[in-house]
Amino acid sequence: MNFLKTKDGLILKRWNSYIHNRTFRYFLLGFVGLLLVSCFGALLSIHLNQLYDVAAMSYHVQPTPSGQGSAQKDSSGASSSRGASSVLPRAGSASGSGRTSSAQKQGPVSSGKPPEQELPAALPAYQSMYPNLFVKPAAKKAAPDGKVVYLTFDDGPSNLTMPLLNVLDRYHVKATFFVVGKTGKKDLAAMKAIVARGNAIGVHSYTHKMNQIYVSPAAFLQDFAKMHDLIQKTTGVDTHIYRFAGGSVNSFNKRTAKAILAEMNRRGYTYFDWNVSSDDALAHSTAASIYSKVIREVHQHPHSVVLMHNTNTKKATLSEVPHIIETLLKEGYRFETLGDMVDNTPYIFRLPN
Ligand SMILES: [Zn+2]
Repeated sequence: MNFLKTKDGLILKRWNSYIHNRTFRYFLLGFVGLLLVSCFGALLSIHLNQLYDVAAMSYHVQPTPSGQGSAQKDSSGASSSRGASSVLPRAGSASGSGRTSSAQKQGPVSSGKPPEQELPAALPAYQSMYPNLFVKPAAKKAAPDGKVVYLTFDDGPSNLTMPLLNVLDRYHVKATFFVVGKTGKKDLAAMKAIVARGNAIGVHSYTHKMNQIYVSPAAFLQDFAKMHDLIQKTTGVDTHIYRFAGGSVNSFNKRTAKAILAEMNRRGYTYFDWNVSSDDALAHSTAASIYSKVIREVHQHPHSVVLMHNTNTKKATLSEVPHIIETLLKEGYRFETLGDMVDNTPYIFRLPN
């Protein structure tokens, strides 16, 4: 015990002498410092590893063509440097949602390129809505010879549709009707008669509610599809032509016109604005003003698409149609109907930039 005590005392004594030695103190301080730094380094490296894991995970989360991400991790671990494309879902695989079958058809096939270049942006959902609403765009005919007038009547059918059809028949003139969603018995009969008597029919709008149909391409398509369907069920015509409610340039579609047009063009439909307006929708219009405006403006074009209306209140228009037809026939104009074979270029408004 004495020895031990002595020994302890000796060790303590030595320790005390060491601790009071300046060099030893510096050495000890350095050692502890080094220990702390290496501990910190180890912790930092673990943390960075975890960060890399997360980064690698998100690198592998790629939008599928349906726009939904699918996280896939390499079996060899997140730090694998293998190309991410090898884990991307292939187009047509079952990884997407069912709603985008057409989008997947157009989806990319993995080719080992960096994923940023390989994957297109997700297609808008409205492109896969109404899959039957597609037509093969017709080859446009050359501009017709001679002086041609296309009479067009919007917003029917109405109580004045049958009387108007009788007038047209009397002169053996055919016109084009851009119709709206009226489903009364008389209206449906009138819609049927438009086609039965050899006139052309096109979609105008089901609701004609411009503050609703131009909210988005999807809203427009919904309205268009409903009207297209009603025409087809009523008349048997799968029409390829339409006229925008308010025309293609209006104050309701400023934000959406480009996208709606692109989508409708993609689906193959042809729209017509006009280059002659009867202005019969204006409150101050009269039979005389309708007649003189139409005749004056038709004289300015070799080919005219004339805008008129066929609602219950457009009696002045109806009363002037015989007068307009008689005058123009005498002047050597002929009347034709619009269809997707007619080049619409001269009769569509230019969108403001
Ligand atoms: Zn209209």
